[in-house]
Amino acid sequence: MLTKCPECGHDVSTTAEKCPNCGAPISSTAQGFIPEASKNVQVIEKTSKHYKAQKFYSIVLFIVGLILVGTGASNNATGVKTFGEICIVTSIIWGIVVSIGSWWHHG
Ligand SMILES: [Zn+2]
Repeated sequence: MLTKCPECGHDVSTTAEKCPNCGAPISSTAQGFIPEASKNVQVIEKTSKHYKAQKFYSIVLFIVGLILVGTGASNNATGVKTFGEICIVTSIIWGIVVSIGSWWHHG
């Protein structure tokens, strides 16, 4: 793969350390490798933030479920208790799915 020398515009191989024409150092920054890599890092960071938020919501849902089960049990409200149990089960499944997803993305 060829790139242009940032100093003289001569065609230089991306594997070359120096421009054969003017001897200017060919850094990977000039070849656009660093911006590409930092782009990938940003995507990973965004993904990890996304999973952290998802984990947070699943924990909140779990706590809400616990409160509903507690409230439903003490008030003998079967509907509320059942809804709370559904919330707990959903939050556990959600948490597992998010964990697998984040593990999958991070390798
Ligand atoms: Zn040059």
